[in-house]
Amino acid sequence: MTDQTIETTTENDRPTWPALVNGFRGRCPKCGKGKVLRGYLKVRDNCGHCGQELFHHRADDGPAYLTILVVGHLLAPALHVTYVEFRPQPLTMFLIFAIGCTALSLFLLPRLKGAVVAYQWARRMHGFEKEQ
Ligand SMILES: [Zn+2]
Repeated sequence: MTDQTIETTTENDRPTWPALVNGFRGRCPKCGKGKVLRGYLKVRDNCGHCGQELFHHRADDGPAYLTILVVGHLLAPALHVTYVEFRPQPLTMFLIFAIGCTALSLFLLPRLKGAVVAYQWARRMHGFEKEQ
C-alpha cells in the first residue's frame, strides 16, 4: 500500500474529527459505544462493544502535555484579569485557582487521553494501521 493510498483510505473509513469526539467522550474511536478507558487513565486492551484493539496506542506524555497546555492557557489570563480587576485576598485567590486548576486538570486528563488514542487510531499510527 502506498502512502497516498493509506492517506485516502484513512480519510474515507477513519474520519479524524468524529474519532476525536468519541475519544474525548471516553468512547471507542471506531464504534463510539464501548469505553476506551478502564479506571481513571488505563486504556483497555479492546473495545467491549466492537472488539477494536486499543493496546496499540502510544499516548505516553501527550495527554498530560495537552492538559497543561489547555489549563495554563485558560487559567493564566484568568489569574491576571482576576488580580487586576478584583484584587481578592491572596488566600481567597490561591484557593480559587488551586482548586480550579486541579479540578480542570482532573477533568481534562482522561478526556484528552481518549482523544490522543482516538487520533492515533484515526491516523493509523503505531499498530493501528491494520483493519480488523
Ligand atoms: Zn468499539
